[in-house]
This record gives sequence, structure tokens and C-alpha cells, in this order.
Amino acid sequence: MSANDRMVGGLHYQQSPDYQHWDYDIDCLKGRYLEGCVTKYVSRHRYKGVGFADLQKAQHYLEKLREAFKQGRLDPMLMEDEVVDKITFDRITQFMDGQRLIGGERSIIRNAAMWRCDMDLSLIGICIKHLIDRYYPNSAAKAACDHKMWRGVEKDGRFCKCGEIMFDPGD
Ligand SMILES: [Zn+2]
Repeated sequence: MSANDRMVGGLHYQQSPDYQHWDYDIDCLKGRYLEGCVTKYVSRHRYKGVGFADLQKAQHYLEKLREAFKQGRLDPMLMEDEVVDKITFDRITQFMDGQRLIGGERSIIRNAAMWRCDMDLSLIGICIKHLIDRYYPNSAAKAACDHKMWRGVEKDGRFCKCGEIMFDPGD
């Protein structure tokens, strides 16, 4: 399944199935929008009250970025002339400090600005996964659960092992 086949957070990615905005971004804007979305959702997840959904969106944009790179649609080596200079590096630091970003979040911001290979992108994914495990372990368990391990009954629904209350389809 490609990133285009998946929906995250109710966003309607199938609006223009023939040629979606992020494909336009990849082909015409060198994927900068995708990098920007990854950094946007990572830098705001602890402040907007929808943290888990934000990191899921960051993962989804990263998935699209990696997919495009593997398909040869993006070549960051061709962008060597735009290699991060001192001023840009200072701006990156200023942004991270201003947003009060920490550890893994800072690694993501730096890697998104300077990535050159799939390993750089996979490191971003690992950092996002760590943030989810650290800040939203319960949401991650629910999202990964197939809701088949029932535990007890609460009012009209039943508990799953992940903590989610599901309605009994037999009622
Ligand atoms: Zn469950």
C-alpha cells in the first residue's frame, strides 16, 4: 500500500486522485512541502493537544517522502548547491530553541533539513516512533490493536486489552 492509499487524521487525501498536491510538491517543489509538514507536526505535537494525531501525520508525510526518494523522483544530491550553510544552520537552531524542542525532535528537524539518503529519512522515522512511545504509549497501543482480546464488560461495551471500550456487536 502506498502513502496515497492511506488516510490519517480524517484528512482527505483522495480529493484529486489523478494528481494529488503532494505529488505536485515532489515533482515541482523538490519535496520541500513534505519536509515542512514533517517538521510542522513534530514541532507542535506537545503544544496543540492532538499530539498523537500530529505524529501520525508526520509519519505519513515522511512515508511519502521516502517513497518518492526510492522511486527516484527526488535526488537530494542534486541539491548540493543548497547545502545547509552557517546562516541556515543558525536559523534551524533558532527555530528549535524558539519552539523549545528537545532531543529526538531536534534530530528530526536537523535531518529533515539536511537529509541526503534513505538512512537519514529512516532515522527520522525512528525518532518519531520514539516520541510516540514516550508521549503517547496508550494511543499507540490502541492504534496497533485489532481489538480481539476482550476484558470484562463496562455498561454497554466491552474492554479490549488496549483499554478501548468497544460496543458489543451482538447487542
Ligand atoms: Zn484493542
